[in-house]
Order: sequence, then structure tokens, then C-alpha cells
Amino acid sequence: MVEMPFNSPADFAAGVAPPADATRALWFVFKADRLLVELGPPSPQPSGDLRVPVRPSWARVPVGGALLKNNNPLWFEPARTLYLGALGGLPCWAAEAPVEAGPPPAGHAWESLRTLFSVLDDAHFALAGRAIQLVDWDRNHRYCGRCGTPTEAKAEERARVCPACRLTAYPRISPAVMALVRRGGEILLGRGPHFPPGMYSALAGFVEPGETLEQCVAREVEEEVGVKVSRIRYFASQPWPFPNSLMIAFVCDWVSGDIRPQAGEIEAADWFDVLQLPKLPSKISIARRLIDAVAGEMRAERA
Ligand SMILES: [Zn+2]
Repeated sequence: MVEMPFNSPADFAAGVAPPADATRALWFVFKADRLLVELGPPSPQPSGDLRVPVRPSWARVPVGGALLKNNNPLWFEPARTLYLGALGGLPCWAAEAPVEAGPPPAGHAWESLRTLFSVLDDAHFALAGRAIQLVDWDRNHRYCGRCGTPTEAKAEERARVCPACRLTAYPRISPAVMALVRRGGEILLGRGPHFPPGMYSALAGFVEPGETLEQCVAREVEEEVGVKVSRIRYFASQPWPFPNSLMIAFVCDWVSGDIRPQAGEIEAADWFDVLQLPKLPSKISIARRLIDAVAGEMRAERA
């Protein structure tokens, strides 16, 4: 199994009911999509992510009182709090700061998750990805999607239920496939219109109702670049909190067709020799793990 950023830490036990007696807790506090961290000075090392110009040399998730009301580690009244579970026995909470929350105390800052990759402790980084998705889900399901009545959090599981019509909303995860197409000693990479300049990646798209993951791979590749593929095989999966996906990565073989990039979706796509790859996404994403693994294998085959 490939270890992936955002994977649940091995010593994390998810839960919805906080322990009654804990005195310390980890606080994953978000303001929009930025996490509250205690922050060191900028790192002199260049960032491995084209989307992140400067990374801090270190960052820490704040540890505060176990219960917000008893020992409030925050300087504002949070818009919402959710108990996440325990990491090695330490309770973990997620909270959302209201838009009007003032600047954080000295030495603290709101930072994007991308900036914090490989800066924050791996387990804390993964839980931050879980926390932002649950905060987002909780905020978006305050009202019943069927009848508009305010919903209530269920005490025994992660769900919000409508007291009027009983519609239950569970945290939503949107599955998306990623496909790396092989042809001889080359792989097919493309770039979207919003990619950093020069960066290429594997193709990706959301799974539609009624299709298998393999059917989705074949459809997405044909739609995005006009190429038919076969021998679709599983690589690995990764929780992806931007905003709520599960990325499921596959390798497949080219069968037929010339590259025709889909207008609006794919700005450019090409076959790349595995010895001469373009700029690639950072190691935060399964895309990079997939490309590195397959290209490495293909180079070894050639040697
Ligand atoms: Zn309802």
C-alpha cells in the first residue's frame, strides 16, 4: 500500500461523542479554507509545490482546553464546533471561525493546507483535511435539503437529521478517478486552464451515477483527450479535501486515437517520454505518486 497525504493516521479513532474528563485537546480551527497554526519564520528551502511560493519553516496545530466553553483557547465565539475523535488518546476538535474573527494572536496565522504540507506533523495534516471537510459539510447542511427545516446533529453518529421529515444527511464524499495512460515508453499528461504555468498531470474526473470506476476512467479519458484505453488497473486512493473528494487512481494502456484536447477542460495534452517529463504536481497529490511510480517502473523496464 502507498502511504498518501490525508490518509487517516493509524492511531486515530474517529468519534462523535467527546470524552467527559479530558483537559487537553488539539484544535483544528478554520477560517474559510485556512487553518489556524502557530507559525515559524519562512523556510529558506524552495517549496516543492508550484502553487505555494513560500512555506514556513515549521507550524503547529494549537493545543487547548478540552471543552471550548470551560477553557476557551480561541479569541472569538466559533460559528460551529465538531468533535472529530482522538489521536493517540488526545481529543481532537474542529471549529469554524466567524468571518468577523479578528487577527490571530502573535505567532499564529491562518494558512492554506497546501502551504502546510510537509511542514505540519503528518497526522495533524491528515486530521486537518478531515476537519475542513466536516466543518464544510456541517455548515452546508444546517437546513433540510427537502423541506428547509433547520436540522439537528445526531448524537450517536456523524449525521444531521431533519426533525420534520426525518431526512438524514451524512458527510458527502465525491469519488473522482485519476487515469495515467501508457503507450510504449510514453505517458499521456494534460493540463487544465488553471494549472500553474508549465505543469502537467494525469487526467481526472468525477464518477457519474450508474458507472463503475473503470467505466469512468474510460469515459473521462475519451472525453478529455479523445483516446481509447484498456487494461485499466487500480493504483491507490487518496482522500482529497479540496473540497470533498476521494481520488481513485488507475493506470491504463492506450488502444487507439490521437490526442484531441477537450475545449474548456484541457488546455494542452501530450505524450511524454518517461525520461523527459514536464513540471509535475507536488507530492501532496496522488497524481504525483502515480506518475512517479509508473514512470519509475517504465524506466526500469527500459534499463
Ligand atoms: Zn425535512
